[in-house]
Amino acid sequence: MNAIIYARVSTKEQKKGYSLEAQVESCQNAADRDGVKIDKIFQEAESASKVGRSGFAEMAKYIDSNNGVIVYCEKVDRLHRNYSDMALISMMIQEGKCEIRFVREAFRLHEDSPPGDWMNFGMNGVIADNYARNLSREVKKGQRKRFENGWKVCGRVPLGFEIEPKTRHIIHDEEKAPLVKKLFEFAATGNFSLVELQSLALEWGLVHNTAKRLSSTIHRMLHNPFYYGWLKSETLGEKMGAHEPIVSKKLWDEVQTKLAQRNKASTKRRTHTFIFTGAMRCECGEAIVGMLAKKRYVYYNCRNRCYKFTREWDLEDQFEEAIAKLTVPRELFEIAVNELKGERANFSKTQKDTIADVKRRISKIETKIAKLVDEKLEGRIDEKAYEVAFSRFEGEMETLKIHEADLKSEAPPDFSEAENLFKLLEEPVAVYQALNTGGKNEFVKMVCSNSILKNGTLTPTYRKPFDRIAEGRDCQTMLGWLDKVRTYLISFEGRFPDFGVRQTA
Ligand SMILES: [Zn+2]
Repeated sequence: MNAIIYARVSTKEQKKGYSLEAQVESCQNAADRDGVKIDKIFQEAESASKVGRSGFAEMAKYIDSNNGVIVYCEKVDRLHRNYSDMALISMMIQEGKCEIRFVREAFRLHEDSPPGDWMNFGMNGVIADNYARNLSREVKKGQRKRFENGWKVCGRVPLGFEIEPKTRHIIHDEEKAPLVKKLFEFAATGNFSLVELQSLALEWGLVHNTAKRLSSTIHRMLHNPFYYGWLKSETLGEKMGAHEPIVSKKLWDEVQTKLAQRNKASTKRRTHTFIFTGAMRCECGEAIVGMLAKKRYVYYNCRNRCYKFTREWDLEDQFEEAIAKLTVPRELFEIAVNELKGERANFSKTQKDTIADVKRRISKIETKIAKLVDEKLEGRIDEKAYEVAFSRFEGEMETLKIHEADLKSEAPPDFSEAENLFKLLEEPVAVYQALNTGGKNEFVKMVCSNSILKNGTLTPTYRKPFDRIAEGRDCQTMLGWLDKVRTYLISFEGRFPDFGVRQTA
């Protein structure tokens, strides 16, 4: 037969100093006296008036799968506090699946137990159940009263407040309340992101780094209406609280607006972007992700940790080498820009000529229509012939006007993006180096995609047209190279991010 121990304390009992250890120990002693070896210990520290608590459920599962289990339990009221637990355990005893040995009451309950023992067990259960119900009712009554008086009833007091031990009123935490207010004021300027507000809170000592999911703590705090005095309870409703607010409603509202605006502007932004975020893969196929160590150093690795971590500055050195290969020599750059300008001028001239031609044809038809009307008025053609001719001219006119509108709306090819790119490629490393982290990330992703990082060595995969540019440097003829790049650039217009080169050159 397997033997187990089941121990439980409620939250309240725990506060009063009842411990699980003591229960387990007295059960263990009883088992030792019986000469029984304990296979498993189930324990839990919570109120058992809720059905389906985890420790009890696990024990029931264990009994069910190991036929014939001895359960050591300190007291009957430890075992169950509601009817459904009681029914379950009774059934398992009657089916011979387990035997309960109550240590304190010194009686055993098994399938052949006398009716007196079953009654004892049952009565204890009823009393325990009644106790739990009363307790919960009293607690609820007390909560309602407290809420009606304007006090927060459950959960922790928000940061910046504390509970006055005697009156149980909620008062300002003298040290933290001013910092909370300051944080709201910073947030209301709209100049700080949540991450920045979070580091301010850390710096000021308002929160500690041990708090998991710190940003959500700050987020929840800045959205909590409790700070301007509003009391909210899921079960009891909402009302103005009796506590002294830390911020005004006006300030609180301002913060909500500003946070919503920032949120809208940055829904796509990740919480942490490093220079090489989203730019590389490991051999194993996993993305290489960056992480911050000691708040300052950025390291990269794949999720499978195939190789050692790679430091960011080592990667930057390699990436700079890769983009240095994209440098376009000055003279080539000039040829390219002139070519592009010539092409644009050419287009404009051709377009102008075509539009003029269409205009001429339109005015010809207008003349014809005027003549037709004259003839009709002078009675030289009959009604039917007039209608036929008129609708034909009208149709032609319509077609020409659509053509004219199309021509006018057709913009000359815009090579300014191509020009910008050539400017960028005069000194790509210098441009890159002058950027901040976000800009560098954009730059990396513009130039490369899915580059491979293997054991700290970067093998760049250039995106179009950079692949052609890198390739073209080895081309024998400059014009051949230019031709390759240019055809690509024409379809690429308007897509290069501005890295600050547009204004300078
Ligand atoms: Zn890997």
